[in-house]
Amino acid sequence: MPKVENTQENFNICMEYCKPCLTYSDIEGEGLFCARGKSSAPKAKKGCNCGFCPVQQKSGCRGTYYCVEGACE
Ligand code: SF4
Ligand code: SF4
Repeated sequence: MPKVENTQENFNICMEYCKPCLTYSDIEGEGLFCARGKSSAPKAKKGCNCGFCPVQQKSGCRGTYYCVEGACE
């Protein structure tokens, strides 16, 4: 079972952190990468806000760059 729940509520929180991130794919509807897996068009790593994100903090996950590397499992 994934550590981060794939919910609309978590997606909305995610967008506060991923959307302003320089590494964000800018593909409409993409996000919550820690639960849904990597972007369909990952960018080069230019910083990651996941460490500040309450979705991550509530989970057992402590990673970064889920949009590039894939979901927290
Ligand atoms: S997963 Fe991390 S690197 Fe990717 S867009 Fe979100 S905050 Fe940025
Ligand atoms: S940990 Fe990163 S990918 Fe996961 S919800 Fe937070 S900002 Fe989005």
